[in-house]
Amino acid sequence: MTGSKTPRVRFAPSPTGTLHTGGARTALFNYLFAKQTGGKFILRIDDTNKIRSTKEFEQDILNGLKWLGLSYDELYYQSKRLDLYKKYLKQLLDKDKIYISKEEIKKEGDRGEVIRFRNPNKKVKFIDLIKGEIEFNTTELGDFIVAKDLETPLYHFASIADDFDLKITHTIRGEDHISNTPRQILMWEALGAESPQFAHLPLILAPDKSKLSKRKHAGIASLNSFIAEGYLPEALINFVALLGWNPGTDQELFSLAELIKAFNLNQVQKSGAIFNIEKLNWINREYLRRLSPEEFLNKAEPFLPELKTLPTLLPVLLERIYTLGDLKKMSGSGELKCFFSMPSYDKELLKNQIYFSDIIKLLGPIPKNNFTAENVKAAVWNFATEQGRGEVLWPMRIALSGQKQSPDPFTIASIIGKTETLKRLGYAARL
Ligand code: GLU
Repeated sequence: MTGSKTPRVRFAPSPTGTLHTGGARTALFNYLFAKQTGGKFILRIDDTNKIRSTKEFEQDILNGLKWLGLSYDELYYQSKRLDLYKKYLKQLLDKDKIYISKEEIKKEGDRGEVIRFRNPNKKVKFIDLIKGEIEFNTTELGDFIVAKDLETPLYHFASIADDFDLKITHTIRGEDHISNTPRQILMWEALGAESPQFAHLPLILAPDKSKLSKRKHAGIASLNSFIAEGYLPEALINFVALLGWNPGTDQELFSLAELIKAFNLNQVQKSGAIFNIEKLNWINREYLRRLSPEEFLNKAEPFLPELKTLPTLLPVLLERIYTLGDLKKMSGSGELKCFFSMPSYDKELLKNQIYFSDIIKLLGPIPKNNFTAENVKAAVWNFATEQGRGEVLWPMRIALSGQKQSPDPFTIASIIGKTETLKRLGYAARL
């Protein structure tokens, strides 16, 4: 077993699509494992498929990892390592573990060559760190193809040649690769090397329990949609960590540093992990609330640039949003307009204007720099109680917001400030 070696793990995405939520989780679990064991986290771009791999997807994956804050210790590109695969293919040819097979290539209809693995046709057994003991009879695989020619290895071969060369000790990857493992183990044996330990992570399931797919679940299957929606990377890391891993305690919020301490591959569940958007939203809101006002304003800027001019609005918004994208939605629906500019009034909505001059007088003594919701409320509350709260506070709220629905008048007053509050009340009084 690989016991005493310094752990070396890799995340090996194929740049044939944008970073999938499942990919982000695989990257995270590898990262956590490396950090907590003092090992190395390696990023390997599996770009041997020249037709499907693109630079854009590669960049997307690199950006996604950066956004998540998962930094790697080493980076490799399979497309730059073809000589290495050739070296190992030659070695196996010399040892007669693989052979060149002349055969009909179906597509082209003429005779060509492929390189096949001499399958010893036996049972392969391995202990998966998550799934437990797995046994597989490899006979049914036949003499499978490992390369088209010495320059063109197929995925399985390139993958294990790299894992061997990079001295990978633990292969932590999605469950969809579990069926690849037996043939990869045969190849490890052919190389005369000990395979890494394997840990196959449970599938991520959509809320309807089907396999999470970018095509069917666009909003939650791709990291980019979370970035666009204004989720915080810390929240996503926290949420994704809980997709299949259970800390065994009640704790639900984990910083990356806490995850490094608490995470344990042995606590990863065997069965599929269901994606729960409400949970993600709850976690994201918790992280939004922990931001300093300054951090919040900076992060909110792309979604609601004008917020910087009115930081007093922040606490009200925090109560209402789950993501920064919600700010954009609120702004788009017109809900926030009254905070940034004088509303237009529907006189009918005001009901009456008779108390405005009293309210203006009552607010007068509150200092400008202490125009808080509490102080505004304290100033008008008794008066409103005497005259009838609905009669006083409804028109006051309409005068400040112009809207049928809005936060209470004290809150609005505190957000727009004393000068603007008195201006709006004065204006509404004369309508
Ligand atoms: N390139 C493979 C993928 O993206 C990696 C598989 C592995 O981790 O071995 O699925």
